[in-house]
Amino acid sequence: MNAIAPEFIEAIRQKLAALTVKHYIDGKFQPGVRSETFDILDPSTNRKLCQVYRGHAEDIEAAAKAAKSAFAGVWRRTKASERKRYLFRIAAAIEKHGDELAVIECLDAGQPLRMVRAQIARAAENFTFYGDYAARAMDGRTYPVDADWINYTVRVPVGVCGIITPWNAPLMLSTWRIAPALASGNTVILKPAEWSPLTAWKLAEIFAEADLPPGVFNVVHGFGEEAGAPLVSHPDVPLICLTGETTTGSIVTRAGAEYLKRLWLELGGKSPAIVFADADLERALDAAVFQIYSFNGERCTANSRLLVEESIFESFTASVAARAKRVKVGHPLDPATEVGPLIHPEHLSRVLDYVRIGSEEGAALVTGGRRIGEEGNYVEPALFAGENQMRIAQEEIFGPVLTAIPFKDEDDALRKANAVRYGLASYIWTRDVTRAHRMALGIEAGMTWINSHNVRHLPTPFGGMKFSGTHREGGEYAFDFYTELKNIAVPLGEHPIPKFGK
Ligand code: NAD
Repeated sequence: MNAIAPEFIEAIRQKLAALTVKHYIDGKFQPGVRSETFDILDPSTNRKLCQVYRGHAEDIEAAAKAAKSAFAGVWRRTKASERKRYLFRIAAAIEKHGDELAVIECLDAGQPLRMVRAQIARAAENFTFYGDYAARAMDGRTYPVDADWINYTVRVPVGVCGIITPWNAPLMLSTWRIAPALASGNTVILKPAEWSPLTAWKLAEIFAEADLPPGVFNVVHGFGEEAGAPLVSHPDVPLICLTGETTTGSIVTRAGAEYLKRLWLELGGKSPAIVFADADLERALDAAVFQIYSFNGERCTANSRLLVEESIFESFTASVAARAKRVKVGHPLDPATEVGPLIHPEHLSRVLDYVRIGSEEGAALVTGGRRIGEEGNYVEPALFAGENQMRIAQEEIFGPVLTAIPFKDEDDALRKANAVRYGLASYIWTRDVTRAHRMALGIEAGMTWINSHNVRHLPTPFGGMKFSGTHREGGEYAFDFYTELKNIAVPLGEHPIPKFGK
């Protein structure tokens, strides 16, 4: 992979240092109404990278007004073919600014360049993929009733969409939600996470460059309770898409209840990789190691539980440990880096706390789990050998900490896989085809990969069961959320009407 020139990185650092990042409302970059700011830290040093205006209800109010007026005045009337052209222009601009976006994301979120480059390509693809869907998204069905009636359905956009995103993969995750919302004729207010909001700012510049009409896309920065909560409770925002922790999902559900908000929650996970003794163990090893330690372990679909058949438990976990020790932890902008620093010192403490808790619970710390150096939030990729009921196997750590758990047979594997409150992803490794499908059907998870790590195809449904979420996105599924389905009924003659009061 190509490195990014140090002078280019330095120029972006200086640009950020000189900046107070503004909200983007009604096509203009604007300071917060209250003029308060907060600092963004570079996770590799914990030194200040730049500052950002801290949004409050007044800023959400201004964004909602702009988004509502752009929805009614322009965007819902814009032809689907034209929306597609805008989305394609945005995709092209993302590619054009790919290196700048990559540097910003690496500095801001601490994600390694190798992951960030793939995410930027995906961010652009989100817009071309959903741009192509713009016209088809509104397709309906017909329901003829003999020769007497015809019913048909059409889809119409919902209105102003509030999109609230987490800090782990900000650009990819936000564009994944913004693109189908815009493609189907809605306008958007994005509230990015307070720990990594900088690519949202750059995205606003890109939207301006693509000449998107003012108010169609807005960004309000700030904290969950101060800027997220007023977005959730704003009466002119009928729809909220939240990606974040399960506890935040509950809070947002309660807050949205008064307004009967349409809510789409993409939440936490504690996904199992289940490795049977008959599997291709070399491939299972590659996948299990990648799927927990990539994205710094800050990955919703991470296989943070590794269920291994008893007969191979010791040898397989020893191989995982050997690989974990060799994972290259380093600066996000070093192309060789596989794991970068955790997002924030608070998150580092949380992850280190779980390492302590795991040891206190009696799990064996096979490798890793110590902080690396004094500067930044670097931590050694960790592997525990433990039991399924332990907190380190039940709670989402969202860091590079894997818990390996032995199982006896298929029933035991399924029972352990499901004995957790989350249900996002799962991974099954076996050469027994029928067993693989039996397991896939039995596992309580929205997504199962058989003999594969998480390879995502945009048309397929993405989302979780249980405490991991409420909806599915991807392909046509996104449009079930971002559109209202209307049924229109037409009699094809003079059908009898009861004559009351005649
Ligand atoms: P978080 O829940 O703390 O924050 C997510 C977003 O919600 C942030 O923008 C935050 O400011 C906002 N928020 C917080 N409180 C709010 C409130 N009361 N009202 C409105 N908005 C509020 O999550 P995080 O720590 O940023 O991200 C990590 C979590 O995200 C993990 O649990 C991870 O599994 C989950 N995640 C899920 C998916 C998925 O697709 N299922 C993808 C990525 C991350």
